[in-house]
Amino acid sequence: MNALPLLVTLMLAQPLPARNVVLVALDGLRPAEVFTGAERALMRGVENEQGLVDKYWRPDVDARRRALMPFLWGEVARQGQLFGNAELGSPMQVTNTRRCSYPGYNELFTGAADPRIEDNEHPGNPNVTVFEWLAQQPGLEGRVQAFATWDTFYRILNVERSGLDVRAGWEPPFSHERERTPARDVLDGLFRTTTPLFGGNALDALTWAALKESLTTTHPRVLFLGLGETDEWAHAGRYDLTLESAHRADAVIAELWATLQALPQYRDHTTLIIITTDHGRGRGPSDWQEHGARIEGAQDVWLAAMGPGIPAWGERSDTGLVTQAQVASTVAQALGLDWNEARPLSGRPLPLTAARVTRAAPARATVVASAQRREPSARP
Ligand SMILES: [Zn+2]
Repeated sequence: MNALPLLVTLMLAQPLPARNVVLVALDGLRPAEVFTGAERALMRGVENEQGLVDKYWRPDVDARRRALMPFLWGEVARQGQLFGNAELGSPMQVTNTRRCSYPGYNELFTGAADPRIEDNEHPGNPNVTVFEWLAQQPGLEGRVQAFATWDTFYRILNVERSGLDVRAGWEPPFSHERERTPARDVLDGLFRTTTPLFGGNALDALTWAALKESLTTTHPRVLFLGLGETDEWAHAGRYDLTLESAHRADAVIAELWATLQALPQYRDHTTLIIITTDHGRGRGPSDWQEHGARIEGAQDVWLAAMGPGIPAWGERSDTGLVTQAQVASTVAQALGLDWNEARPLSGRPLPLTAARVTRAAPARATVVASAQRREPSARP
């Protein structure tokens, strides 16, 4: 067998390996807001409606989504790609039937839905995540970190088994670090003294500030950032603050990108950044607040990526259905590693270098056959 054509095919089919990979999740942010910006009907009656309209409403859809997420549409779309616009023939969905967070993050991090994980109360994840696996690969030991607002990530990433470096929830992020700096003291103090608005979910700005402090000193090669306010404010029925938190999450990603580019370990073509969500939410005047097995629309998600070897194709069209189960192998592939070889049942990498896919991703029958009973409240 002549190995050369196969090698050439592989080289063409994969983005160039990056030195580092960063995955950012904005919990429960709908594709609707990402691709079409603020929804006028949901702004009615909010506090300072005119102020919100001035800030985020534009008659033109492109101007509107840029007003909400200027970095995503100004930079990521210009340098990379976005999946999830069903109107353009590029839908992205979860394959788990639960359409809530723990099942979604499990699918995101392992490349397969696990029906055993029914809700957010599930104990330590029985599945090895791509992060746990990456942390065992040569050169990546001790170089994988996760910063997340939600304390459930300790279980999702099964810190007890994986030993991953996870800072999550309201636990002061540097409380276990012997090396103190003035910034770490201030940040730990803020985590201790800020009133917890959302139970086990810290505020996005605090977790981001902690990550930024850590990033400039520890230089992880694999990084996860999980932000939760987009989900929390939607559950609270505050569309105004849902938009504000999406806008601020976009600013966090812009600052994260600028921070990475300012560090020699990451600068230029060494970092792939993937931005996505764990689930969508419903549509219309009340369902927009919810998600879960019976909420139509909550299966719809989105993803943006940019980095070395990813063509700048912007908003993708006519890709056919891609799924959340394809993200874990995409993360590994960014570093030149093969998650599908380690986990044959996981979804294949996203078609970042294929203009059109003829065969849909391994969509499971469960996508259609969603459970008939209502999820027990599934926050986030
Ligand atoms: Zn939720």
